[in-house]
Amino acid sequence: MIDFTFTEEQDLFRKAAREFAETKIAPHVQDMEETGRSWDPVIKELGEAEMMAITIPEEYGGLGLGYTVRMIALEEIARVSVATAMMMQVGGLGIDTIILFGTDEQKEKYLPGLATGERFATVAVTEPSGGSDPKGCSTSYKKQNGHYVLNGRKCFITNSHIADTQVVLANNEDDREAYSTFILEKDMEGFEATHEEHKVGMRGCNTGEIEMKDRKVPAENLLGPEGKGMRVSMTAISESGRAGMIGCALGLHNACLEASVKFANERILYGRPISKLQAQQFKIADIKIDLEAGRLLGYRASALHDKGERAGNEYAVAKYFTTEAAQRAAKMAADIHGGYGCMEEYPVTRYVRDSFVLGPSAGTSDIMKVIVSRWALS
Ligand SMILES: Cc1cc2nc3c(=O)[nH]c(=O)nc-3n(C[C@H](O)[C@H](O)[C@H](O)COP(=O)(O)OP(=O)(O)OC[C@H]3O[C@@H](n4cnc5c(N)ncnc54)[C@H](O)[C@@H]3O)c2cc1C
Repeated sequence: MIDFTFTEEQDLFRKAAREFAETKIAPHVQDMEETGRSWDPVIKELGEAEMMAITIPEEYGGLGLGYTVRMIALEEIARVSVATAMMMQVGGLGIDTIILFGTDEQKEKYLPGLATGERFATVAVTEPSGGSDPKGCSTSYKKQNGHYVLNGRKCFITNSHIADTQVVLANNEDDREAYSTFILEKDMEGFEATHEEHKVGMRGCNTGEIEMKDRKVPAENLLGPEGKGMRVSMTAISESGRAGMIGCALGLHNACLEASVKFANERILYGRPISKLQAQQFKIADIKIDLEAGRLLGYRASALHDKGERAGNEYAVAKYFTTEAAQRAAKMAADIHGGYGCMEEYPVTRYVRDSFVLGPSAGTSDIMKVIVSRWALS
């Protein structure tokens, strides 16, 4: 049986996430835009509101609520601030990689702190050699005197300068066919967060580079089996990572719809609101149709995932659709605003800039098509 309704618990969480976003995050959005910096207590606030605890099992201090609830929470937070949702989504990806592949000891050590915001995570896979080709990764590891030593540089890393718990993919120095994933901590010797990016959008979401120089990692911080790191990182990104980006895209899309409806009802031309003009009504209809379709695709994938089924292909379809649709929605919302759509005091200009940044993270639209075509042709 197909049930398209959210549960009461999911509806309640949406309400709580919306209230959190509107009361705690909204007052800081303008400052984040102007300074490009996240507001200091963001991690603490996300932790206190239990936003980081959603997928963490109860035995490790989490809520054990699953991916649909997290997509709902991200949608509500992105509706107010995609930058904040992006930080939360990559933090959540680090958490999910540990849930999926961590040992009991690793879960006990890291998850309770990650649930409360005492710790905050990132996932570092991409390197200057190209994010679409993770096998080109040149960050290396070797085993030495009972620990691992990592060397290399990761770029475009969300939470690069604020995360204290990093899930990092590296290549075996002695066997270039083998990759492993490690849990690193900021204060382990040999770590530096270096260049910080200035992005066109999602300003206030920290993105930058991290460098590892002879970075010593205890043997027990290997995450998943040695030599299987590509599977560890890609499994998490293809499901949790893409689920997160879908939530971010849906929230931005909804913000575009709301801003368009508000402006179209308020802007008077020819003696009546422009919402009475059919050309503007049709733009609003297009935005709404894409949002409805994106939600069906996104929440179908998360529902499968919550049932314990593999949902990588469904997530790829939804990630492609929702991130592309959010870009279309932002462009149409700006068009509806006429000249005001070019003026920074209107949030729609931020939506246009933010929509450009949605695409690459967790795999570009081209890569989603590679996955979907493989699925269709199999
Ligand atoms: C805001 C932001 C946050 C990010 N956060 C993180 C993070 O936290 N951790 C992390 O590890 N990475 C992160 N990334 C990196 C992201 O995963 C990469 O940008 C993405 O994988 C693309 O890699 P690239 O930028 O090197 O582009 P490239 O891989 O160099 O791609 C260049 C172009 O080639 C196309 N292309 C590549 N392969 C194919 C193919 N097989 N067929 C057709 N076309 C192809 C791409 O679609 C693109 O148009 C982030 C990126 C952004 C923008």
